[in-house]
This record gives sequence, structure tokens and C-alpha cells, in this order.
Amino acid sequence: MRQVLITIALWLTSLFLVTAQYVLPALPYNYNALEPYIDSTTMRIHHDVHHAAYVNNLNKALEKTPELYKKSLPELLSNIDQLPADIQVAVRNNGGGVLNHNFFWKIMAPAGTTNISAALDKKLTENFGSVDKFKEAFEKAALTRFGSGWAWLVASPNGKLEIISTPNQDNLYILGNKQNQKAILTLDVWEHAYYLKYQSKRAAYAKAFWSVVNWKEVERLLNE
Ligand code: MN
Repeated sequence: MRQVLITIALWLTSLFLVTAQYVLPALPYNYNALEPYIDSTTMRIHHDVHHAAYVNNLNKALEKTPELYKKSLPELLSNIDQLPADIQVAVRNNGGGVLNHNFFWKIMAPAGTTNISAALDKKLTENFGSVDKFKEAFEKAALTRFGSGWAWLVASPNGKLEIISTPNQDNLYILGNKQNQKAILTLDVWEHAYYLKYQSKRAAYAKAFWSVVNWKEVERLLNE
């Protein structure tokens, strides 16, 4: 009997491992935690509708090749051209959407809960001239990204920081990341991220973003 139970348990486990789909992670704070800079209605729609849709559509795209559910998103996106041709676009857009939003929620925190440490200030100053100049350059990347996309602060293995922007749901993985950089901060500049509160004023949204950056997490990623 005991042996039978163990066999059944192992079978159930393997079934789960093969079919376990990507999931929508809960927000690390309440919907209203970033008020007044990012309003609670925007957060609710952004997470529960947009982010959830990326997760559902990614799972749908992988339905015919369920063994791919076991791969990490960086793995899938870094090797997009090795996927079946008919799902490459869907995985690029939705897999990118899942990964980018998972990251975006984590690099924000309620206003006033973290600040730029002396060490991070020094690092930003070394790379951009000052913290203000860094912010200015990052905002510029956010504003000049035509249409929808993301602004990023990325770190090279040698510690050099750089600001880039990507269209749609692209990120370092989809770009091939030959320099082995790591994203340590990002801003979603899709209209769904700000339109309810800021309408067409993307610049005001990008400025407000500084109040809710989780600087502790940015620094942790930089030093990781
Ligand atoms: Mn978004």
C-alpha cells in the first residue's frame, strides 16, 4: 500500500512539473501603496488585467509544447529563434510582458520607505555626473521611446551603468545581451501604465516615478 501511494505521489509530482504553467505573482504591496504618484485604479488594472493577460497569453502560446513551461523566462527569451516559428512573436511579446512586469513591481516601493544610499549616490555620480543628471538622462530615455516600451538602467559586470530603452515588451534577454548586462531599474512607459492619472503627460509620470523607486532593491541588484 505504502509503495502504491509513493508511486502515485511521484506520478502526480511529475504531472505537475510538466504542466505547471507560468503564474501571475501577487503585487508585493497593496494597490494603493504607491499613491498619490501611481494611483490605485491604474495599479489594479495594470496588474490584474494587463499583467494577467501577458501570463495567460504566454501559457496559451506554449500549450502545444508544454515542456517549455519548465524553462525560465530569461531562457525562453534568450533563445527565441529556437522556438517553433509560429509561437516566437507571442512568446517574445507575452514572455517579455510577464518578465518585465514581475521586475517592475519589485523595483517600486511606497514613497519614503527607501532612499539613495551614499554608496549608490557615488556610483550614479561616477557614471552620470550626478544623481540629478542620471535622473534627467533616464527621463529622457523614457520620453523619447516612441510608442510603447520601457526605460532601463543596466549594469555591466565591470560595474559600468548605462541607460537604454526598448520597444514593446523587449528587454536585455531578447536583445541577446552580448555584454552580459543586468537590469537594475526600469520604467514602464506604455500608456496603460499612466494614462488614467497623467493622460498624455508621460514626463509628469516619469518625474513622479522617482518618489516610488525601491532604491534598496536597485542597490541590492547592483551589488548582487
Ligand atoms: Mn505595463
